[in-house]
Amino acid sequence: MAEAKRKGEDLPEDVGSDDCLASYTYIYSPDLLKDQVAFITGGGSGIGLRMAEIFMRHGCDTVIASRNLDKLKEAAKKLSAALGRRCLPLCMDVRQPETINAAVDETLREFGHVDILINNAAGNFLCPASALSFNAFKTVMEIDTMGTFNTSKVVYEKWFKDHGGNIVNISATLSYRGQALQVHAGSAKAANDAMTKHLAVEWGPSGVRVNAVAPGPISGTEGFRRLGGARAEGAQSFQSIPLQRAGNKTEMAHCALFLASRASSYMTGAILVADGGAWLTSANDVSMLLGYWSAEKKRDK
Ligand code: NAP
Repeated sequence: MAEAKRKGEDLPEDVGSDDCLASYTYIYSPDLLKDQVAFITGGGSGIGLRMAEIFMRHGCDTVIASRNLDKLKEAAKKLSAALGRRCLPLCMDVRQPETINAAVDETLREFGHVDILINNAAGNFLCPASALSFNAFKTVMEIDTMGTFNTSKVVYEKWFKDHGGNIVNISATLSYRGQALQVHAGSAKAANDAMTKHLAVEWGPSGVRVNAVAPGPISGTEGFRRLGGARAEGAQSFQSIPLQRAGNKTEMAHCALFLASRASSYMTGAILVADGGAWLTSANDVSMLLGYWSAEKKRDK
């Protein structure tokens, strides 16, 4: 779905599905990431897939790694065919360090180096704390937080420690105001923001920069669908956001590209909020969200 152009805005191209862009207008130099290799967790769908595409459009080869190998293979085929760079699909669960070890070993065998790590894999859904099982909370912490630590540590030990590199964590703004029905993801991403700073401090002397992008509501994603984005759009809820719209996946990919490249060479430990100002002004209305959550639950039955 193409975004309408508004006064003062020049949005980058986007498509709502997990397909490659039909056209692309460069903002940065096309060789910004020339011959680099980016390892992107959760790169087979949504924001992660678009990051893989935009990185490849800037001369980078990519590894897309997550649990569903069929989905990854299909995505990698599409990306390589459209962009003429290599994209290696690898099966990996960020909760299982041995699968990460194997995936990073395979990356180094195939490409000989890895320059960028994007920690994008995450799980999310709306659920009030009182209805959230112990296991559901733990699972989100394990994927979002432990997964980010596990993957960062493996890539650091196997390559970044001796060669430097760039880590970009994909965060969220949920914890800034204690977003209703999001105690699991908000807590996990807040821990990741702390981790971004801790690792930036410890690994800076090895030439490793660690930064994060915190997206707001991003159209054409599973997160947007699950968290009621389409309904919010229909109800004109985005009018209360300073920029009055949802963001798009290409915009998030451009933020990650900035942080992963020499364009941000003096930045580390930073969280780049890219949400159209949403967290400053949008409603954090428990009863409205509870109503939406109960209606969705009834529909699921
Ligand atoms: P998505 O398409 O569901 O992407 C999540 C990816 O994570 C999937 O490709 C999934 O692949 C992978 N994944 C899940 N569990 C995994 C595991 N245990 N090990 C390895 N990979 C795993 O969602 P998205 O909306 O694009 O979100 C991408 C990132 O942006 C997330 O970090 C999310 O928190 C953040 N974000 C999104 C929004 C938004 O509006 N969409 C807003 C704020 C922040 P498999 O199923 O194959 O494992």
